[in-house]
Parts: sequence; C-alpha cells; structure tokens
Amino acid sequence: MGAGASADQGHILIASNGTGDLILINGPIAGAAFAGLVDPRAGFSAALADQGRVGPPPTSQAALAKLPVVRVSADDLAQDENAACCVCLEKHSVGDPVLRLPCGHLYHEACAMSWLKEHCTCPNCRYELPTDDADYEAGRKARMRHRRPRYRLGELMDLSVHHLRDLLRDAEVDASRLRGVCEKRDLVRCVIDTKAVDLVADPLPLALDVDVMRNEWSVKQLHDLAARVGVDVAGLDSTEMIDVLLDSGKIIPA
Ligand SMILES: [Zn+2]
Ligand SMILES: [Zn+2]
Repeated sequence: MGAGASADQGHILIASNGTGDLILINGPIAGAAFAGLVDPRAGFSAALADQGRVGPPPTSQAALAKLPVVRVSADDLAQDENAACCVCLEKHSVGDPVLRLPCGHLYHEACAMSWLKEHCTCPNCRYELPTDDADYEAGRKARMRHRRPRYRLGELMDLSVHHLRDLLRDAEVDASRLRGVCEKRDLVRCVIDTKAVDLVADPLPLALDVDVMRNEWSVKQLHDLAARVGVDVAGLDSTEMIDVLLDSGKIIPA
C-alpha cells in the first residue's frame, strides 16, 4: 500500500476491497475520505485494479431509507466508539441528531450517507448493510450471520410495526413464529425471543422528584434533562415535557 503507519496522524481508514481483504489508509486522507472530501480510491486505484471491484458495493436504497435518526444521549457519549462521528472525527454532543446504524454506531447523517451511498459497510466496525448486488448478498449474509443488529429495549419499542417485521424477516425467523402476532409489544417480544437482534442493556432510568420538576425546574433544565436521556421534547411546554419524559420510561418518580 505504501502508506506507512504514523501514530501521530490520528486518522486510520479501514476499508474492505470486497474480497475480504482489509485496506488500511492512515493519515489525514482517511478522515477526508470519510468526509467525502477526497475519493479514498484515488491513491490506491493501481493496487486495487486487479481486484475487479473497488470496495464493497453501495447500500441499498431500501436499507438507507430505514436508518433512524436519533438524539445522542449521555450514555452514547460514555461509549468511546460513539463519542465522535468517525467519518469527520467531530465530537458528538448530547442532543445532536445522528444517524444510527444497525451495529449501534452513530454518525452525522450527511457523513454516513455520503459513505453508505458508495459502500455498505459501517466505517467503524465493518458491519455490512443490505445491498442491491445479488452476487455480493450471498457472501454478505454469510459474513453477517453472527452479527445481529444491536438495539436497546427502548429503541426497539420506538420502532414501527413495519420495521420490527423487517428485523424478523432479515433474521429469517420462521413465519410460524409470527402466527397470531399483531400487537407491537408481541412483535418486540418475538424479536427478543428469536434473537433477531442483540439486546443491549438499557441505561437505568433516572429517579427524580416529579413535584420538584413541576414546580421548580426551568424550561432550560427540562430541555437539558431531555437531551441527556435522548428524549425529543421540541415544541412542548414544561408540563408536556415532564409527561413525555415520564412516558419514555427514562425518568421515574423518586
Ligand atoms: Zn460527521
Ligand atoms: Zn458499526
């Protein structure tokens, strides 16, 4: 590859060339490549020319359309891997809207989309999203057999019935398991029971004095709390915010 390791550069791009080999690109070009500022293939096309294909194929439109935008929570930031967008390397802040990949990694929407429209892999962990490339799909499914999407219970509960059914179908859960299952909570139970996803522990709810919140907290304090626990309260007044926070299960009365 000709690119020597340099510890002080800080940026390392790990890309797959579609045949299972890893390409390491270090230095500023990696960050720039993720940000879409340069084409990561530019300096490496000669080395890759004999591979027949440069990198994994694009993510399918259907898969892109399903990626949820979520708010960064304090718990997300506590995980090193989600402290920053690993495409542009900018740090996330609590409350920022970010795109959540099935592996659980968080990116700025524009950063992730510019990458995923070219390649179906998570830049952080190489989780492979669905593609429209029939040849590639057989290998992708085999490689991803042991990598279920990761969700917290609260995130599963927030998914639509349609999305939950997609998860079950993607995991190739036998249709007989779904007979008579139509309520959302039953679908969530089915997703968990069939291990269609890897369930990640929910952060413990915060126990707070609701009367104090109602009588003494400022709007800003409520907004800060909502951002901290990742609940969207845009456009709500104080009373509504408290109700939504309690409904989320992330806040419980002390
Ligand atoms: Zn970014
Ligand atoms: Zn990932």
